[in-house]
Formats: sequence, C-alpha cells, structure tokens
Amino acid sequence: MKALRWHGKKDIRYDDAPDPEIEDAGDAILKVSSCAICGSDLHLFDGFMPGMKHGDIMGHEFMGEIVEVGKETRKLKVGDRVVVPFTITCGQCDQCRRGNFSVCERTNRNKNLADKMFGHTTAGLFGYTHLTGGYPGGQAEYVRVPYADTTHVKVPSTLSDEQVLFLGDIFPTGWQAAVQCDIEPTDTVAIWGAGPVGQMTIRSAVLLGAKQVICIDRVPERLQMAAAGGAIPINFDEESVLDRLGELTQGKGPEKCIDAVGLEAHVTRSLDSMVDRAKQAVMAESDRPHVLREMIYVCRPGGTLSIPGVYGGLVDKIPFGASMNKGLTWKMGQTHVAKWTDDLLRLIEEGKIDPSFVITHTMSLKDGPGMYETFRDKKDGCVKVVLKP
Ligand code: NAD
Ligand code: ZN
Ligand code: ZN
Repeated sequence: MKALRWHGKKDIRYDDAPDPEIEDAGDAILKVSSCAICGSDLHLFDGFMPGMKHGDIMGHEFMGEIVEVGKETRKLKVGDRVVVPFTITCGQCDQCRRGNFSVCERTNRNKNLADKMFGHTTAGLFGYTHLTGGYPGGQAEYVRVPYADTTHVKVPSTLSDEQVLFLGDIFPTGWQAAVQCDIEPTDTVAIWGAGPVGQMTIRSAVLLGAKQVICIDRVPERLQMAAAGGAIPINFDEESVLDRLGELTQGKGPEKCIDAVGLEAHVTRSLDSMVDRAKQAVMAESDRPHVLREMIYVCRPGGTLSIPGVYGGLVDKIPFGASMNKGLTWKMGQTHVAKWTDDLLRLIEEGKIDPSFVITHTMSLKDGPGMYETFRDKKDGCVKVVLKP
C-alpha cells in the first residue's frame, strides 16, 4: 500500500509500505477514506518530538471502512463506517473506567519508554512517537486498529466524511479544552492560537455559553475564520495582547485562558537522551510571545488555564509564583476522545455545528509531503488539510 512515512526532520515521503495485518484477535483493519494533518504531526515533521524511527507511518486523524476483523472483535463487522479516535483505549483498565482514556494503562506497547519519560505509562497513540507505542498511523491506504472494539466511533451514512472526520481528534480536543474551563455565562474566554484546534475551541466556548470569546494569532485568514465563529480577533503582530485583553475585560483579565498553540511558540528541550541516550539539544528558539507566560500574567485571579497545546520535554521560566498567588487552576492533557464523541456526534447530527468549516485544502494522499509544508507555513490561507488515499 501507499503511506506517508517519516524519514527524519522535514522529510515525509509518499512511500510503499507493507499492508497491515491482523496481529491480535481484537484488531480490525480499516480502509482509509479520508485523513487529515494535525498540528501535532508538525511537531514530528519539525523534529521536536523524540522517539521517531525511519519509516514510521504518520497520521492520527482518519476514518474509513472496516475491511477485516480479528476473531475476538465483537462490536465491529466488515463494511462498518467508522472514525478512529487518536487515543487507543482498552475501555477496561482503571483509567478508562474513570474516563481518562488518554492515559489508558494498557494500550501503550512501549510502556517502559513512557514510564521512563513521564513516570507512568500513557495511552497508545496512532502515528506518533514510540513513547506512545509507535503504532502505524492512518495517513495511508490501510491501517491496523488495535483494541478495535473500544477504539472506534460508528458514523451514519447521512453525514459526509468531512462532517465527522474531526470527531477523532480536533473537535473533541477543542471541546475538552473549553469544557475543562467550567465556562460560566459571565466568563471571557481567551484562546491563543487560531489553528484547527483553536477554531474548534472557539466554536465550543460559544456553544458552552461564554459571554465573550477572544482569539489571539497573527495569521489574517485564521483570525477571519475565528471572527466568523464568534471570537474577537487579536493580531499579536499588530497590537499588544495584554493591553487589548485588559481593555476587553475592563482591566480584570479573562477568567479562562486556553493555550491552543503548544510547542510552536516555546523554547523546548529535546529529551532524545532520555530515550536513546544520545545527544541532548536545545530546540526551537522562537521570537514569538511565550503563551504560557502571557496566560499566567493576564488571567484573572481565581481563573483557569486550559492547555490542549502539546508540549514535549522541558519548558523554562514559567512564572509559577504568579500562578500560585493568583490561585490559578491548570488543566491539560491529550484528549480523552471517547469521553466526548457521543455528545459531539449528536451536535453534528442536530446541525448545531458542522466541523467541516475548518477545511481549506482537500488533496490526494500523494500530495501529502507538500501539504505538510503548506500547513506548517500557513501558505495559501491553509487552515486544515484533508487527504484522500
Ligand atoms: P497549528 O500549528 O495549525 O496552530 C497553531 C496556531 O498558533 C497557528 O495558527 C499559529 O499562528 C499560532 N501561534 C503561534 N504562536 C503563537 C503565539 N505566540 N500566540 C498566539 N498564537 C500563536 O496547530 P493545531 O492543529 O491548531 O494544533 C494546536 C496545538 O494543539 C498543537 O500544539 C497540537 O499539537 C495540539 N493538539 C493537542 C491535542 C490534545 O489532545 N491535547 C490534540 C490535537 C492537537
Ligand atoms: Zn492531532
Ligand atoms: Zn484502558
């Protein structure tokens, strides 16, 4: 089959790859009809995440048709149309029973690596680093879905791929980012980042009844999309974020601050050495404002910081004293996708939201390598890329 494979920093290729096979009785094989490129894929593309290997198949946002099932798969049959959550979940461990699906205790087949890095294991993820299991991803013609009974969302034929594809990641990610802020009707919610996750977060905060939603970015097309979704845009290249947020909240500061940027804006340190005991390098200097620092500084005392943005390794110089004295609550993590998908599928079916608004580019899978660059560099007004194998 054909797939997008990682060959190193900024080197993703449309390559041949072996067809996936059933390896465990609980597996299913999916024929991919649509997949997407996520901001998290960019961390791999940019070489910010340790634990990648040459030839790894990319992609954790995908859907399609089941073409084969393992002997012990009960809830799926050949022909079912499903979206696959990016977090692989067993549904039975103590964490899954608590709804903490992204820290499932069973699905990461490289538990020892995760343990060394994080102190505990976290769930297996598709198309991500070997720290999270190194499972081949879905930017491919076919993909093996482990723990298939508990790692799928069946979707009705009345909805298009474009309407439901984002149930696997960015829609629940934006939703969780907003829900975990416990939004009150009097709240101002400020969201850093108008990428696909920021866009879904804006729509979610509006649906959850925030008084005022504000979005901070520098890309005009993305800020326009944010405004169309009900947010007041702030372009951080053109105006002072702190001054504008002060004005918009009568000097009080937003009650809820959401970091939908992550690594891109920060000085991070690669922890390669912890994984393969090789070199340790300081990565990704950036001249952009430091989102976490800005959020801590501007957030109203007693407020909440919600961090869907992905981090890896160490982040330096967080004003933790300010956060402590202001009594801020921090919420973060990979998304517990399966916790939200029933509710979000219903919102789509009821017409309360159509997540396809975020798609700006639909291309063939073989155009994938070029589209990584287009998406990363925000060329041609790119917000979200969907690829068709
Ligand atoms: P993206 O890279 O397209 O979007 C990031 C946006 O942030 C860009 O529009 C960029 O212009 C903007 N930005 C950069 N620096 C900024 C700054 N200092 N202030 C304000 N905006 C700034 O990515 P995306 O797909 O929207 O993903 C966003 C983040 O969410 C990534 O870190 C991604 O890894 C993460 N993510 C997390 C989960 C999860 O489960 N927690 C799931 C999906 C994505
Ligand atoms: Zn993602
Ligand atoms: Zn589990």
